[in-house]
Parts: sequence; C-alpha cells; structure tokens
Amino acid sequence: MKEILADYNFTELKRLAEEMGERPFRAKQLFDGVMRGHDISGIPALPAAFVQRLLGRFEDCALKIVKTLISSDGTEKYLYKLADGNIIEGVFMRYKYGNTLCVSTQAGCRMGCKFCASTLGGLVRNLTPGEMLSQVLKVNALHGGTPAKRQVTNVVLMGSGEPLDNYGNVIKFVRDMAAEGGINISPRNVSLSTCGLVPRMYDLAEEGLPLNLTVSLHNVTDEERARTMPVARAYKIEDILAACANYFAKTGRRYIFEYSLIAGENSDAAHARALVKLLKGRPCHVNLIRLNDVKERKLSAATERGAQEFLKILTEGGISATLRRRMGADIGGACGQLRAGYLGENGNG
Ligand code: SAH
Repeated sequence: MKEILADYNFTELKRLAEEMGERPFRAKQLFDGVMRGHDISGIPALPAAFVQRLLGRFEDCALKIVKTLISSDGTEKYLYKLADGNIIEGVFMRYKYGNTLCVSTQAGCRMGCKFCASTLGGLVRNLTPGEMLSQVLKVNALHGGTPAKRQVTNVVLMGSGEPLDNYGNVIKFVRDMAAEGGINISPRNVSLSTCGLVPRMYDLAEEGLPLNLTVSLHNVTDEERARTMPVARAYKIEDILAACANYFAKTGRRYIFEYSLIAGENSDAAHARALVKLLKGRPCHVNLIRLNDVKERKLSAATERGAQEFLKILTEGGISATLRRRMGADIGGACGQLRAGYLGENGNG
C-alpha cells in the first residue's frame, strides 16, 4: 500500500510540498482538498504533473464507500473499502443536536467480546489516523457538508476495533480532526469507547484532550464480566473505576458506561441493584441498550420490559441512566454485522 495523504496534517503537508519542490500554497490546496473529502485526483486546481507525482507516492483515496444501507429511522450504514482491500464499517445517526458518525479504529479487533461481530475474525490491522479521518471526511462530503458547514458534528469511536489498542494513531486522529481550518470537530464532541484497557485510560487522562470517555462495562462482577469479555481477566472492574476517577480528576469530564442488556447474562434486577451500588456517587452516566442480535453469536437481547425495569432500578437508585433506542436495527445495527455479512457473502473473511 502507498501512503495516505490524509495522514498528513497541515504542518506536515507544508513540509511535503517543500520536499517535493512545490510552492507553499500547494500545501493549503492539498489540505483544503483532503478536508473536503476529495480524492487526490479530484482536488481542484492542481497541476497535472504534480498530481501524477503525488499518485506515485500516495493512494488516490484512503477509502471508498462500497455499500450504503439506509434505515427507516434515517440511520445510514456504510461499508468502506480501504486501499489494501480491507473492509470496515460506519454508522451515521441523526439526532436533534446534530449528526453523529460512528468511526472504526481497526480492521477487526482482538478483544474477543462474545456479543460483538467485529472481533469474529480477530484483528486484521490498525487503521492509520488518515484512514479514521477519511471516514469522517467522506461521510461529511456525502451529505453535502464542507469544513465550514459540517454535516458530521459528532464522532463516536464505536465502530470496529478497540481505540486504546491503536493508541497513538487514535490520538493523532483526534488532534487532526480538531485542527483549525480543517473539519474542526472538537474532542468535546468525540466519544472514545473502550472495553477497559486500564493503563491506556491513565495515559489518555494526560493528553490534555477533553474527550468523552466511555467504558463498555456490561456486567457487575469480574467473574461474570469475563464470560462475555475476555479482557475482564486482565483488568478488574475496581481498577477500571479507579482509572475513570482519575480521568475525571484530570479532565473534569464525567464519564459514561455502556451496558448492553443480554438475556440471562447481565440484565436481572439483581444486576441492576449491584450496578447502583457500584456506581453510586460517581460522576457518570449509564447508557443502556438492548443487545443487538448478532446472528453469528448465540446471545440474545433482554426484553424491552426487562430493560425498562433495569432502567427504573438505576434511576430510582440515583444513577443517571438512559435506555437508548436500537438505531438502524433493521439494517444490521450492531458492531461488525455488516462487515461480517459482506465477508461471508464474498468469501474473503
Ligand atoms: N472496542 C470499544 C469500541 C467499539 S464497540 C469498546 O469495547 O467499547 C462499541 C460498543 O458497542 C461497545 O460498548 C460494545 O460493547 C458494544 N457492542 C458490541 N456488540 C454489540 C451488540 N451486539 N449489541 C450491543 N452492543 C454491542
């Protein structure tokens, strides 16, 4: 694979232009073109000879949208093909306050959560910062957005991959996405979701980035958590909570727990009561969601009634919590479902 132009921020593009013997204003043209979601061959007003030289060193584009599914609730799902043929996916959700794009950070994942389709084939590779950024830029452009008038306003790192398992690239992506004159999405509008890689959670607190930290908890004891999340054998809930407290102390930002309700696993009233005990008094919020059924997995969702009951126990226990709609359930809402289906159909998993 050649290099990805979106891996270069403005400062790096200025150096590149100089290195390639081009005038400094070319860096601005490249930057604006990339931020508008253009392929290199589509960036306006570049001399043909320069384009040819660029294409000798860089991929024309980091990724292409190869399939789009549109849900009855307006949610859209995309399959992207990377320059080396790997497949990742994304979800675009419309909310009252803006539009959120769910971004993938790795092709595949090595965390092995039993309810998640992204990890079925293990980790394929880390995405580069530019490959993450390109997901945002392509979808923004797809919806007629520009850097000045964004159509993607919020980003959640909840696509395939474990963001803290691709730490350096994810941090560069978050910084590049916030760059002035670019797509300029602030870390305040970015949620980083982790299955709980504790040492990296401490690192994150030192970055000086006002990211929204989200932790996939999904159970209340280490033993039960380990049944669906192998990572629970490496990091204890107690240590995750301490890392969250440190994050709050360092950044002043509340944190969020994801809790996917799975029938017979983590969704009894007893679990809800234990969760209240665990989280009482902490500056956090709980996002409940009923498991999205994944046909490759045997687990199934708690009932709607059970979910409402769970929510009630949390709320009455003084825990800030919401039960989220399962957006795009009719188009394969959950992590990795679309990719798993695509790889199955195309026989190259
Ligand atoms: N690796 C990161 C981010 C990607 S997963 C993490 O673990 O947080 C994004 C969220 O979707 C996580 O909370 C994950 O546990 C959850 N998830 C995965 N598969 C799901 C499913 N089938 N139904 C509901 N939530 C799911």
